[in-house]
Amino acid sequence: MLKRTHRINELNDSLKGKEVIINGWVDRVRDLGGIIFVWVRDRYGIIQVLFEPGSHAYEIAKKLSVEYVIGVKGTLRERPKDAKNLDLASGDLEILAIDLEILAESKTPPIYINREEGSEDIRLKYRYLDLRRKSLQSNLIFRHKLMQKTREYFNSLDFVEIETPYLMKSTPEGARNFIVPSRIKKGTFYALPQSPQIFKQLLMIAGFDRYYQIARCFRDEDLRADRQPEFTQIDVEMSFVDQEDVQKVIGDLVKYLFKETLNIDIGDVSSMKYSDAMELYGSDKPDLRFGMEMRNLKDKISTDNLGFLKPSEKEEVKMMIVPPNEVLSRKDLDGYAENAKSSNLKLGWAKFVDGKFTGGIGKLLAGVDLGVKSGETVLICTGERNNLNSFLGRVRIDIANKIKIIPDKTFKVLWINEFPMFEWNEEEQRFQAQHHPFTMPYLEDLENEDLSKIRAHSYDLVINGWEMGSGSVRIHTRPLQEKIFKLIGISEEEAKRRFGFFLEAFEYGAPPHAGFAIGVDRLVSIMVGASSLREVIAFPKTTSGTDLMMDTPSEVTEEQLKELGIRLEGNS
Ligand code: ASP
Repeated sequence: MLKRTHRINELNDSLKGKEVIINGWVDRVRDLGGIIFVWVRDRYGIIQVLFEPGSHAYEIAKKLSVEYVIGVKGTLRERPKDAKNLDLASGDLEILAIDLEILAESKTPPIYINREEGSEDIRLKYRYLDLRRKSLQSNLIFRHKLMQKTREYFNSLDFVEIETPYLMKSTPEGARNFIVPSRIKKGTFYALPQSPQIFKQLLMIAGFDRYYQIARCFRDEDLRADRQPEFTQIDVEMSFVDQEDVQKVIGDLVKYLFKETLNIDIGDVSSMKYSDAMELYGSDKPDLRFGMEMRNLKDKISTDNLGFLKPSEKEEVKMMIVPPNEVLSRKDLDGYAENAKSSNLKLGWAKFVDGKFTGGIGKLLAGVDLGVKSGETVLICTGERNNLNSFLGRVRIDIANKIKIIPDKTFKVLWINEFPMFEWNEEEQRFQAQHHPFTMPYLEDLENEDLSKIRAHSYDLVINGWEMGSGSVRIHTRPLQEKIFKLIGISEEEAKRRFGFFLEAFEYGAPPHAGFAIGVDRLVSIMVGASSLREVIAFPKTTSGTDLMMDTPSEVTEEQLKELGIRLEGNS
């Protein structure tokens, strides 16, 4: 076999005139009748190879087609001045072929490797071909680097990397579990971990003090555009610490990763209370790359003259100022007013031009000082507080995208603190833990009858409007843990059955502890600017949870089912 002497990126001026051998794939072929030009691609680069007629290599080269795997021996030389290719790293060099060996032929590939086009379904079906694409290779190599840097960081701080099981018991992160039937104990099931939460807490009880793991997690949720049924977390837990300690370690990790991989200084990580985020941005993951905060008008101006926007006693009035732009039309603005109506809210708008409000509700605002500058548009919205906040929060993002005020390549990283401990589950008509039930509540809030008013020592890390991860200080005593289970309607019985082993562990000296988990797929996506999580995962699933290459989920044989003691509905 013609075995390579160099990787393509190693070919440089110092080797000019020398014989080299390269291995790789045929990226494209141009047969000019007299001469054949072939671009050869390996992981490291692309180079042009020239086959001149009359040679043995030329005769073989005639058979070449895209994606053939070859070995080429030849002389490295400088390309003629007018034939340099500035798009290729090795574009001013070429190889004049002496010998050629076809190591593997290829059928005509169903997708273009060197062009970013074609249906995603076909790309996913032939993922191993899709993965030859430069952008996917560079994303996955970036991801590899990020993982290595993560390990480097934690190792330098005495964290221990410990693996935890995939086959476990159902846990209460709030999503549905994937379950795996046991063959040996028919009728019983393992669950795949939604996260290593319980294990990492047990590792603290076991005295490991500082743990991390780059862990795979599985959640059987309805898939949305940016969710995968299995995903990767940088999972962390620490003993004898408080919230600030964990945030310092994680904040420094994020700074380190941005610096080491992208050479970007993200500066200090800011903090905001959950309640402020909701009031100002209508979201618990605010995008701080632009302003347009919501402002409360109720106590600021006399609302009597607001006409149809006048709030009732219980309602709020909020304003948002849109920067001057040529994009938002009257029709767009009326559209937001219509949407507001269908969300049981009232919305009006006006432009501020030459010192006066015009259009929309301009007349109602005559003489009112809202601190608006010339060219700006004001939106005023009235209605029930939570509904109003989240509606205006969505409008904020929508408008910012439309008028293109969100800067590229800027990263705004912040902590959201003091989340509510519980949230109301409308479907099941009960409160559930907002983060997870092992989270430490603010003890001074615990007497509150209204569970929605109890705050938790839990925190999210947000980057550019994406939730990058979450964590909390944990409960470390049994009575408090039992109390929380009770508040969310998990009976003593059920708690014992599901987490008995865990509750018992708290009776053998559990240290105060706290932790965090960062979503790797999302972090990598945002860092490389990928348009979807599938661009940063080697073998992803579609939004309907299918692997198109393996064609799975798929049926299993009767025998397999029988062995497991499972009979499918509809089968006899
Ligand atoms: N286990 C949590 C999660 O996956 C993270 C944590 O609290 O550490 O969201």
